[in-house]
Amino acid sequence: MTAALLLAAALGATRLSSAAPVPSPKGRGPAPAAAGPRLSVESRAVRPGEVLLVVVEGADPVAPPSASLRGKDLSFFPGASTGTWLALAALDLDASTGPARLEAVLRDPAGRAARTQKTLFVRAARFPIEALSVPEGYVTLPKSDLERAESEAAALHRLFARPQAPRLFEGAFAPPIPGAAAASGFGRRRVFNGQPRAPHSGADLRAKTGAPVRAPAAGRAALAGTLFFSGKTVVLDHGLGLTTLYAHLSRILVQPGDPIRKGQLIGRVGATGRVTGPHLHWALKLGEARVDPYSLLALDLDARLKPRPEDPLARSPACARADLPPAPPWGRAAGGLRARVRPLKPAYAPGETVTLLVEIQNAGGRSAFLDFVRDPGARGAVLGFNRAPEPFSQLASSATARLVTEQVKIPPNKTLCFEQDRDAAGPLLAAATTSYALQYATDFLYSTSTVRAGVWRGRLAAPPAEVVVSSAAK
Ligand SMILES: [Zn+2]
Repeated sequence: MTAALLLAAALGATRLSSAAPVPSPKGRGPAPAAAGPRLSVESRAVRPGEVLLVVVEGADPVAPPSASLRGKDLSFFPGASTGTWLALAALDLDASTGPARLEAVLRDPAGRAARTQKTLFVRAARFPIEALSVPEGYVTLPKSDLERAESEAAALHRLFARPQAPRLFEGAFAPPIPGAAAASGFGRRRVFNGQPRAPHSGADLRAKTGAPVRAPAAGRAALAGTLFFSGKTVVLDHGLGLTTLYAHLSRILVQPGDPIRKGQLIGRVGATGRVTGPHLHWALKLGEARVDPYSLLALDLDARLKPRPEDPLARSPACARADLPPAPPWGRAAGGLRARVRPLKPAYAPGETVTLLVEIQNAGGRSAFLDFVRDPGARGAVLGFNRAPEPFSQLASSATARLVTEQVKIPPNKTLCFEQDRDAAGPLLAAATTSYALQYATDFLYSTSTVRAGVWRGRLAAPPAEVVVSSAAK
């Protein structure tokens, strides 16, 4: 990846106060990829009850692609690599077998759109039939229980159908009971006391009463309460339409609305509701589609979503140049991070593309995570950062979290250095007076307070340009 691309990543950070925005980059923009964007699908299997990961690579990093599977629109979110977009799709437990057309409009890095399509073949899934014996009151319901069960089903339906939250999980999902015997039984056709009932839309994990149940990924508790069929139940919302449900618990250890970390204890195994014995019923939905949670575990989301393994601290060769204008003082530290900005050249002619060198230093004692946002609509909220080992769990409720395209880790005492020469609307063009502000939110999630970390003002064509770096709380 070129420095220019990363620069585009920090777009929202750029503010050129007096230059007119230019609609398209000239000359210095990212070079178009040699080949067009690639569309692929990753999944454990292509059959009813599976979740699929639709991957677009080598695409325009700013505008998401659009696609539909069997006519249903997919919503894309950025992957860890620039130009990679991901979407989750589901084949419901009762999805029809046979061809499924995936249609997409993909944009290359130069913004050229092309239509493409792919046909998946949905194979038949063989779900066993199981006869179960439970107390008769759970099969032929008295009127009051029937009304209760119906209103609970309607409430769950509303919960699954509500608009998608931004992505709250940061990578791969883990089983909720580590070490539990591999679960089976998803999709089983069930006959309770001789009467056929709805297919089994979850996995059953064998465990003793009291065994800990842990969140498979970060999210938010959407429901925590006692339901007629599923007994003590927790539902977690992981964002992007993904919800997981934990039923028949003996204890519930979260409150509705709680933010949830991956691995957090959310309850204990039990035998409440319609059960034949203690176990954990674990279900996954994407929107309202019922999918086997183990199909989600099979997706390598870490590889697609975690910060990239290569060293992000040496992105631009210009950072090592000896002929740079003198370094300005660092801006005021916020959350352990401080920044400074300087022009790559001492002076620019009016209309010339301005290239700035941005340095962000971790002066704190713990690793920092920096999130580069590149949505033109999010120009105010540009770089988010936090210092937790699980950054996305804290970015969770931010409306901009889903716009994060790239996350880099800055270890203590290290400096991230990169060049910036593009704005959302095109290159930064020098005008008579040019000012530049690098801003980052001190509390990306809940607060709108912003600290101005560094401001550069250059007087043009009056070498050497006057460089003023100041820091001031807004
Ligand atoms: Zn079950």
